[in-house]
Amino acid sequence: MLKPTHIQGVAIEALAQEFGTPLYLYDGEKIVHQIQTLQTAFAAVPLRIKYATKALSSLSVLSLIRKAGAELDAVSLEEVKLGLLAGSSPAEIMYTPSGVSFAEIQEAVQIGVMVNVDSLPLLEKFGQTYGSTVPICIRLNPHILAGGNLKISVGHKESKFGISIEQLPQILELVQRYQIPVAGLHIHTGSDIYDAAVFLKGGKVLFEAAMQFPDLRFLDFGGGFKVAYSPEDTATDIPELGRIVSAAFLEFCEKYGRALELWIEPGKYLVSEAGYLIVQTTVVKETPTLHFVGVDSGLNHLIRPMMYDAYHDIYNLSNREGATAPYTVVGYICETDTLAAHRQLHTVKEGDFLVLKNAGAYGFTMASNYNARLRPAEVLVWEGKAHLIRKREQFEDLLRNQEMIQW
Ligand SMILES: *Cc1c(COP(=O)(O)O)cnc(C)c1O
Repeated sequence: MLKPTHIQGVAIEALAQEFGTPLYLYDGEKIVHQIQTLQTAFAAVPLRIKYATKALSSLSVLSLIRKAGAELDAVSLEEVKLGLLAGSSPAEIMYTPSGVSFAEIQEAVQIGVMVNVDSLPLLEKFGQTYGSTVPICIRLNPHILAGGNLKISVGHKESKFGISIEQLPQILELVQRYQIPVAGLHIHTGSDIYDAAVFLKGGKVLFEAAMQFPDLRFLDFGGGFKVAYSPEDTATDIPELGRIVSAAFLEFCEKYGRALELWIEPGKYLVSEAGYLIVQTTVVKETPTLHFVGVDSGLNHLIRPMMYDAYHDIYNLSNREGATAPYTVVGYICETDTLAAHRQLHTVKEGDFLVLKNAGAYGFTMASNYNARLRPAEVLVWEGKAHLIRKREQFEDLLRNQEMIQW
């Protein structure tokens, strides 16, 4: 896989020196390129890209994504508010919560974002409260097991998400009883689905259900487009996906009798490959069995390897030729926090900068202060210039909100 030394002409090593490590580094051009690839692939249909904010929610990233023509899907009110701060209008944001209090739902309605209803009790309360006045989207669980990893598959029949497609009669009964305007139907089957056939399978569920809802404006196919993390990974073929899904969608609209919008909610696809986590080697530790490399970061900054067994490609930025050896790169957290196991790297010595790839999605947003460690800075490169978009945390940040009582 590629081992870039520069982003848009800016040397990564110089940025590591200027801003320090660990550092989250984003290539703004790559994010925009991904949006344009989707727009091109789905050019035959009225497309709305609703970026899954939870993948990377830093304000400057949201603002860039908006500039490139994508809208937002938010899973918390806080994400909604970040989106508004970054310039999106309420009409451009869909709120897809999972089992939140009705008070939050009411606040979302007040703000003016569309609510994606994910349970029958919520649908009923919504109807009782708003009747025919507030349009909604309904999240269906299509009972499809997608992708290889159960932890990130969310549309199967034992998943907590959405309203089971088998409960369609109950949905229709509540919609009828309260005259709820249903503007959209939604499915999201999970992450790392590379096969257009799976999306089509989800699409068929949507198409069939949609015939029961005469006032729809859109169908939302969710996210989960796969990107390549390891050399053996196959990424979703986006042009092919666009062709296949658009054709099926247009055929459906014909049958439905009206042109609808097609919504998608890519998270990973927009930001994963645009992100790099730059770390510095603190120790090289030889044991009788392994070469360990210790770095100034860990699962507190990138939890995906430990949480999902995710593979993140890694390379030695400081030494790019000569002999290689199998290294196991570990963090500084008091917990087993392997970032990369048994990887062939050019000889690593103390002080070398290592780069973890595909760190844009679910990297910084899942970072924590575990072990009372500080979260990294974030730098975004745009038009050949590096911008610090989030300062590195300082010790004072750990004290904020604490009340010290000396007993
Ligand atoms: C997380 C999420 C997505 C994005 O998933 P990716 O795998 O990052 O593309 C889309 N829609 C919803 C509702 C989500 O929760």
